[in-house]
Amino acid sequence: MPENASRAVLVTGCSSGIGHATAHHLAARGWTVYATARRPETLTDLEAAGCTTLGLDVTDEASMRSAVERVEADHGAVGVLVNNAGYSQSGTIEEVDIDAVRRQFETNVFGLARMCQLVLPKMRERRSGKIVNVSSMGANFVFPGGGYYHATKSAVTALSHALRFEVKGFGVDVVIIEPGLIKTRFGDTATSALDDEKGEAGGPYADFNAKLAAATKSAYEAGPLSKLGGPPEAVAKAIETAVTASRPKPRYLVTPSAHALVNQRRLMTDRMWDAMMRTQFPQPK
Ligand code: NAP
Repeated sequence: MPENASRAVLVTGCSSGIGHATAHHLAARGWTVYATARRPETLTDLEAAGCTTLGLDVTDEASMRSAVERVEADHGAVGVLVNNAGYSQSGTIEEVDIDAVRRQFETNVFGLARMCQLVLPKMRERRSGKIVNVSSMGANFVFPGGGYYHATKSAVTALSHALRFEVKGFGVDVVIIEPGLIKTRFGDTATSALDDEKGEAGGPYADFNAKLAAATKSAYEAGPLSKLGGPPEAVAKAIETAVTASRPKPRYLVTPSAHALVNQRRLMTDRMWDAMMRTQFPQPK
């Protein structure tokens, strides 16, 4: 780390899962961690673990601005921004309410982009900083019923590639983290979004939605696919590797099964992929 680097780490979405594990992991290794969540009352254990806790909703300009200003007032600049907050708005492209689609992009993409904009001026001034964007292995392929979520993660990966080039000369590194299946509250949120959006009973996608909900539940709970899942600490460790490296890799795929799936997708044509999806999901008709 350069001598003038700030060791202050700002993490979004720390109420559970990957954000919580990352804040905990980095604080335990001596980093100055600002753990944030839209409901700061969910962060008491992280406060006890040495984190400073703040309210931050990535869809709310005032709360994003005030969290960044607080870290800058204490340390001059955010040293590391971990853009982690996000969720999956599952459902079919036709049926998901367009306002829910807007919320999905507002949280996963525009909030993340705005956080980058807010921390960059002081990082550039210091000529030092790291931005870690939590994308997904799902930026490399698409599961049916997850189109909107995958679109947000593809957007996160795309804008991270652009940003990496744009800010490298100012001493700022940009890293993409692409977790595979990680056992967190993510599956619950995705299936409850599906419940909200499942459309009329007996509608054209009813069987598909039912199978999608069951597959998601089984992958994140006790089904056979869940054995491929990793713990949130695996992602926290990858983030630590990225933030401590003097020359971090542009992207880190996390979990062995994520490597296998992404490689498999690269070797398949689109038609081969669709055929594989038909073995997993009933094709709506
Ligand atoms: P999680 O346990 O559900 O955590 C999601 C976090 O995001 C929660 O703290 C949630 O806060 C927060 N969040 C949601 N909307 C927010 C907003 N508007 N402002 C601030 N925070 C907000 O799920 P997770 O698995 O840890 O997910 C973390 C990240 O990893 C997400 O970006 C997700 O897409 C990505 N990811 C997860 C997996 C996986 O399999 N788990 C795989 C690939 C990528 P609340 O408590 O307030 O809802």
